[in-house]
Amino acid sequence: MGEYTANDVNNQSKLKVKEGNVLYESTRGNLHGQTASQAITLGMVPNGGLFVPSAFPDLNWQDLEGLTYGEVAKRVMMPYLTDFSEEAVSQIVNVYSDGTFDGEDPAPLVSLGSFGVLELWHGPTAAFKDMALQVLPDLLRISLKQFNRDEEVLILVATSGDTGKAALEGFKDRKGMHIVVFYPEGGVSPVQERQMTTTEGSNTHVVAVKGNFDQCQTAVKQIFGSDTLKAQLQEKQLIFSSANSINWGRLLPQIVYYYWAYLQAVKQGKVPSGGKMNVVVPTGNFGNLQAAYYAKRMGLPLDRIICASNSNNVLADFFASGVYESQRAFYQTISPSMDILVSSNFERFLYEMSGRDAEKIRTWYDSSRQGTFTVDPTTLKACQDTVYAGWANEEETLETITRSYQTYQYVFDPHTAVAMKVYEDYRSETKDQTFTVIASTASPFKFSSNVIRGLDGVNQESCRDEWEALKRLNQLTGWEIPKGLQGLENKPEKTVSSCTPEGIADLIQTMFVG
Ligand SMILES: *Cc1c(COP(=O)(O)O)cnc(C)c1O
Repeated sequence: MGEYTANDVNNQSKLKVKEGNVLYESTRGNLHGQTASQAITLGMVPNGGLFVPSAFPDLNWQDLEGLTYGEVAKRVMMPYLTDFSEEAVSQIVNVYSDGTFDGEDPAPLVSLGSFGVLELWHGPTAAFKDMALQVLPDLLRISLKQFNRDEEVLILVATSGDTGKAALEGFKDRKGMHIVVFYPEGGVSPVQERQMTTTEGSNTHVVAVKGNFDQCQTAVKQIFGSDTLKAQLQEKQLIFSSANSINWGRLLPQIVYYYWAYLQAVKQGKVPSGGKMNVVVPTGNFGNLQAAYYAKRMGLPLDRIICASNSNNVLADFFASGVYESQRAFYQTISPSMDILVSSNFERFLYEMSGRDAEKIRTWYDSSRQGTFTVDPTTLKACQDTVYAGWANEEETLETITRSYQTYQYVFDPHTAVAMKVYEDYRSETKDQTFTVIASTASPFKFSSNVIRGLDGVNQESCRDEWEALKRLNQLTGWEIPKGLQGLENKPEKTVSSCTPEGIADLIQTMFVG
C-alpha cells in the first residue's frame, strides 16, 4: 500500500460524475471509466499506460469572446474535471488573476507581423511550466479529498532544470504536501540551480545527485516502485505522487492558452473570425504539443501544428519515416529542456493517430523494444497530416536569436528560437501564409549568456558570470529582468543535500521515516 492502485479507485463508488462529462481511459486498454480525480491522483496507469480523455467536449471559441483568462480556463477545464464542483474550479483559476502572474494577461500574444509569439513565461519561475504547475497542487488536493484519504503527499521530481523550480514554487507551503526535487549536480544552469536553492517554504527540499539527468530520473522512478519504502512511508501517513507531465493534471491547464491565443489573434485582427491559425511548439516531452492537439479536437480552428526539436531530433525523424528510434547519441544543447529522447506524452498522440488502437500502443511500447518501434503506414499518414515536424541545430538556433533581434527587436530564448527557425523553414517550404503562433516557453533571461552569445557574439568574453549576463542582457535590449530572477544572487540559499543515484532511497528514508 502507500499508493493508490487501480483497485482502490475502482472501489470509489461514491464519486459523482456530472452529466456530459468525460471519463478517462488508458492508452494501453487496461483501465476504463476513471474520473478526473482518479486520473490525477494516480498520475499514470498502475500497470502501464497514460490516462487520456475518452471523449472531447466541443467548445466553441466564440462562446469565450470577451472573457478573462481565468474565465476561459474555467470553461475549458470544467467539462474534463468530471467530479469537481464548479466552485472548486472557480477558485483554482483565480491563480491567473491574483498577482501570481505578472501583468494583467498571464499569456500575452505579441504580434510580429505575419506571426505572433505567445509569451507563456510570465509566471513566478519565468518558464511556461508555471501555467500548469501553479494549478496542479490544487487539482491534486481536491482529487485526494474525493477519496477521503488523510495521508500527506510526498512529491518526488527529477529535473533537468525548469520543471524543478516550477514544481517547487507550485507546491511550496501547501498544507499536507511535501516536495523533493532531484537535479544532476553540475547539469543545470547556474540560474536554474540558484532558482531552486533559494525557494522558500518549509515543505520544499532540493537534492543534488552525482550523476546525469537520466541516472537521476531512473533512480527516482525506482523509488516510486519500491514497496519497502512505500510501506515505511505509509506508517508515517505519507503517500507518493508525481508532478511530471505524464499527469493529466499537467496537460489540462495547457489546453487553455491555445484558446486564449486564438481569441487574442482574432481580437488583434490577425485571424478572421473563424479562420484557421497555425501553432509552433518547441517540443521535449510532447505535453505542450499534445495540449494544442486536444484544443483542435475540441473545435478550435487550428490548422497545422508544427513540432520543433533541437539536435535531439528523434521526433523529426519519426515524422519523416514512421520509425521511433531513441537509441542514439544524446546531445547537450543550449535548449536543455528539449534534450529528450524518450518523449513521454508521444504515446498519447499515437493513441489518437492509430484510431485509439490500444493493442498497437501495447506493441509499440512493449518494454522489450527499448524505445524503438515502427508504426504502420496508416498511422504515419495520420501523424503527418496533423503535424509538421522540423528541427534546428545549435548554430541555427544562435543565428535565429541574432536575426530575429535585428529584424523584429524581439529577444527569443534558445527554446523559442528553435521554434522560430522551424517556423521559417516551414514557411519557405510550404509558402503557407496562415497566421502562426509560436509558443514561447521561457524568458530569454533564464538563459542569458547563450542569448547574449546570439545577440552580441563578439563581446561575450566580458560576462564574468550568469548574474552579470542577466544585467548585460537587460542593458543590451532594454527588456526588464523577470521578477523571479531579480536579486537571485543575494537571496539566502537552503541547504542542498547531495547523494549518489543509489543513495536516493536512503536519503528519503532519513528525511521522512527517521
Ligand atoms: C519543458 C520545456 C519544453 C518542452 O515542453 P514539453 O511539453 O515537454 O514538450 C520546452 N521549452 C522549455 C523552456 C521547457 O521548460
